[in-house]
Amino acid sequence: MHNVYIGLGSNLDQPKKQLDSAIAHLNSQSGIHELQISRFYQSKPVGPQDQPDFVNAVAFFITELEPLALLDVLQNIENIHDRVRLQHWGPRTLDLDLLLYDNKSIQIPRLTVPHPFMLERGFVLKPLADLAPNLILNSKTITEHLNKIDISDLIPIPK
Ligand code: AMP
Repeated sequence: MHNVYIGLGSNLDQPKKQLDSAIAHLNSQSGIHELQISRFYQSKPVGPQDQPDFVNAVAFFITELEPLALLDVLQNIENIHDRVRLQHWGPRTLDLDLLLYDNKSIQIPRLTVPHPFMLERGFVLKPLADLAPNLILNSKTITEHLNKIDISDLIPIPK
């Protein structure tokens, strides 16, 4: 079994409902077990600002799926949510990112793990710290990474 953290984000079509639905899909996967979900946060978009705010969360689960099989599952759930990509870093109905897979480092064309930029983004680090404040990445805890960045635009919202 492997320990996995994923990031969830949405800024279209009732984002909170998109996340709830994604969580229900994750829960119904036979290869995904012991799912835990962080708090939900509202965040400002990265890149183009003329788009709605995002709702973000992080999920932890254990899985027997290998990384690419897991990416297939995540992309399938994105597709079910009619994800439309009109522009790079533009609005999306559902974005699922594989953040961490055990303590593996993966660099292949379809998959980079740990997810690039995750240590710079409050909307990833804050919900990740809800679930795993003492998890060590690059010799520092998630809390220490979080303390180095500005998270003033992040608002916890009720689930
Ligand atoms: P994005 O639109 O930013 O979610 O990027 C989607 C693309 O990133 C897909 O083609 C994936 O194969 C690729 N990708 C690379 N690394 C990851 C990762 N850690 N999690 C999710 N997608 C990834």
